[in-house]
Amino acid sequence: MPESAQEWYDRVQAGIARDGHRPATWQDWATWPFADRLEAVRDLERPQAEPPRAGVGAEDCFICAADREDDRDYLAWRDDHWMLGTPMEPVALPLVAFLMPRQHADLADLDAESAARMGPAMVAAEQAATEVLDVPRIQVLRLGDGTTHLHWWLVARPTGMNQLRGSFLSLWDDVLPTRPREQLRADLRLVAHRLVELVGGEAL
Ligand SMILES: [Zn+2]
Repeated sequence: MPESAQEWYDRVQAGIARDGHRPATWQDWATWPFADRLEAVRDLERPQAEPPRAGVGAEDCFICAADREDDRDYLAWRDDHWMLGTPMEPVALPLVAFLMPRQHADLADLDAESAARMGPAMVAAEQAATEVLDVPRIQVLRLGDGTTHLHWWLVARPTGMNQLRGSFLSLWDDVLPTRPREQLRADLRLVAHRLVELVGGEAL
């Protein structure tokens, strides 16, 4: 039987008490953004009740509201099942965007049609981004612990910025100077127009 969250916690906590934390090797990675060493690891908190996530049952769902209200500062592209938007917070990278279903659903709840359209939309998003922006590829992440509406993060670094490769790309985005929003939106509009050519839908 798989161990429960409490059993996982007990075993890991006992390991920390016995041997301490495993030494992080991030500082040796060429892609680690920070120069200082990180020594102190926070105490591990016990498993607790999962906090409620925003937008349960599509009530007060920011993403559904943006779709309904045709929010063109947030959305850039839309077809019958999927849409592309961008964070409201300033970003530093050439592309930080969300690929989201128009159905209010999380990954496990997508209806068959939205699920079937997810692959082509994601493939086309990378094709469009790498064709119209100076980025070599996109990273695709699903985090979304804060809201019940699925949103894939699409994140890209400039071509040749090899120091930003890999799992620390989002950390770099948090510490580098941000871009004017109009610039980000203009780039995303180019991606959106290419998406229309590749898979249809409309650029917003
Ligand atoms: Zn929603």
